[in-house]
Amino acid sequence: MNQDLSFSHGETLEHLECSKCSEIYPHTVPQNVCNACGKPLLARYDLEQLTGIWTPDTLLSRPASLWRYAELLPISTPEDMVSLGETITPLVHAKRLGAEFGLTEVWVKDESRLPTGSFKARGLAMAVSKAKSLGLTDLAIPSAGNAATALSVYAAAAGITAHIFMPQDTPDFNKQTCQLAAANVTLIDGLITDAGRIVAERKEQEGWFDVSTLKEPYRVEGKKTMGFELAEQFNWELPDVIIYPTGGGTGIVGMWKGFAELEAIGWIGKKRPRFISVQSTGCAPIVKAWEEGATEATPWRDAHTVASGLRVPQAIGDFLILEAIRKSNGAAIAVTDKAIREAMQLLPTTEGLLTCPEGAATVAALEQLMANGMIEPSERVVLFNTGGYQS
Ligand SMILES: *Cc1c(COP(=O)(O)O)cnc(C)c1O
Repeated sequence: MNQDLSFSHGETLEHLECSKCSEIYPHTVPQNVCNACGKPLLARYDLEQLTGIWTPDTLLSRPASLWRYAELLPISTPEDMVSLGETITPLVHAKRLGAEFGLTEVWVKDESRLPTGSFKARGLAMAVSKAKSLGLTDLAIPSAGNAATALSVYAAAAGITAHIFMPQDTPDFNKQTCQLAAANVTLIDGLITDAGRIVAERKEQEGWFDVSTLKEPYRVEGKKTMGFELAEQFNWELPDVIIYPTGGGTGIVGMWKGFAELEAIGWIGKKRPRFISVQSTGCAPIVKAWEEGATEATPWRDAHTVASGLRVPQAIGDFLILEAIRKSNGAAIAVTDKAIREAMQLLPTTEGLLTCPEGAATVAALEQLMANGMIEPSERVVLFNTGGYQS
């Protein structure tokens, strides 16, 4: 497999733009959120310059890695790339699982193959690369677990110090891997939102740059490559439905953004998959907002679920998640922890694929969606197994 990342291309990133008020910021200095309204910033590229010049054929000679989409990534020189081998993840035709639900076109995007065993690697590869290119030395993150592990190893590889804040009851795998990579770990009595408050309070004095979900503009750029890969793997024809386990929402927001970019440069048409956002009934702020027809979510109290990646009581990008769901004609649904536990066996027994609880939640959601008639038997459905099984 060609993993040579040394191909170059011109600078295509233009600036950062506020997702709410459209204020513009340079990408050449570190910036968290919009100074004016506090909302997430999104990277904007010179899409016009790329149109007709950058074509899918160019990908053929490129590495089987998310870096192949370089023109739509925020890093323009190979020296700035901090890579641990972010392979294109398999898209598995889950025929036996599909048959269980009367579907022929169920596919699983298996993100467990990425470094650190979860798709958090995509976002942190991009954020750490950009941080390195901007000369940042200390990165701080509030995490529910997998983002902490990913930051720890990417920061270590870049010679950057990682400061981790996560709940005491974060899975052992995450605590141990952060320690192994010599990150500075603080376990807190609270949830990811409490960890986020601590980072916000201390970062200025400590000289840390905050790489929280969507308070840092480039993690979402890494996450959007899930959408690029999916489009390429289906030969630039998007599926009908994407079922996605939602915490902070970078995946949905990223893919939605990525699809718009692909359409703008003429690689795909107007069709979009319906985004089905899945949460746990123990922490379902997006589902509640969706059901109420709200454009923003209210913080969830007493959040608890076996799927730690979904234990996010409040997301700064809530309005962006809800917008993508609404504009795609999708929906948001909650599944119980009991259903998640039961679904943990469905992919292993039908397809031999081990899943994380968050991935299992998409299987539980599929069952519910079929029972409610929200998916037609002939439709093509993609489930995201966002990470591997960890005991
Ligand atoms: C973080 C995480 C999620 C939630 O992802 P978002 O894109 O932030 O909504 C889902 N699954 C796993 C395994 C995670 O680590």
